[in-house]
Amino acid sequence: MRERLVAGNWKMHGSRESCRALLDAIVAADVACAVCVPFPYLAQAAERLRGTRVAWGAQTLSEHAQGAFTGEVSAAMLGEFGCRYVLVGHSERRHLFGETDAQVAAKFAAARAAGITPILCVGETLQEREAGRTQEVVARQLDAALARGGIGDAVVAYEPVWAIGTGRTATPEQAQEVHAFLRGRLSAQTRLLYGGSVKPDNAAAIFAMPDVDGGLIGGASLVANDFIAICRAA
Ligand code: PEP
Repeated sequence: MRERLVAGNWKMHGSRESCRALLDAIVAADVACAVCVPFPYLAQAAERLRGTRVAWGAQTLSEHAQGAFTGEVSAAMLGEFGCRYVLVGHSERRHLFGETDAQVAAKFAAARAAGITPILCVGETLQEREAGRTQEVVARQLDAALARGGIGDAVVAYEPVWAIGTGRTATPEQAQEVHAFLRGRLSAQTRLLYGGSVKPDNAAAIFAMPDVDGGLIGGASLVANDFIAICRAA
């Protein structure tokens, strides 16, 4: 039986005060989940979430161990905070910041080496889906990471790029189809999350699919009641 996981991706949103209010609300709801917060709020999250059912993580990390990489944050630095998860290969990192499969794979390996569980994001663009290339794209993205020492206890998130932040969700059947394909390349224990415009009103149907083990939630993770409802749906 795979343990379910709902992880919030706060992206570059919030303030110290909104972070405090959101964390307080999630802790008060007593739901098991994870939140991936902006770097400046990692210490605040670590402090507030100690001893609770809410794990926390970062949204990216450097593939380098240390050195002259201005602005970057290493796996060891995150590990020192007790960081449990880190997103790698989110489509915004791939498309807005030009991260390549090789770079994502190096970040994946760096996280694992530091004892941090990577949440590897894979997903096709609308153009790739319409060209019938969904499986080819997600397989390429996954295989690049797997080549760096296998899957271990890493989590994989299928996030169709056309569904992220667009309000356009994959149908449960579309999600299941890709998850089943990914499952065939992974161990039976690997947790596979779906991400892309998951909201309280569509979460239960998506999470009911046999190969969907939870979700990676962007916009709705910033609204306490919505995020809590999604966690409960899982
Ligand atoms: C995401 O950023 O990972 C995401 C799934 O965003 P949203 O839920 O807003 O589509």
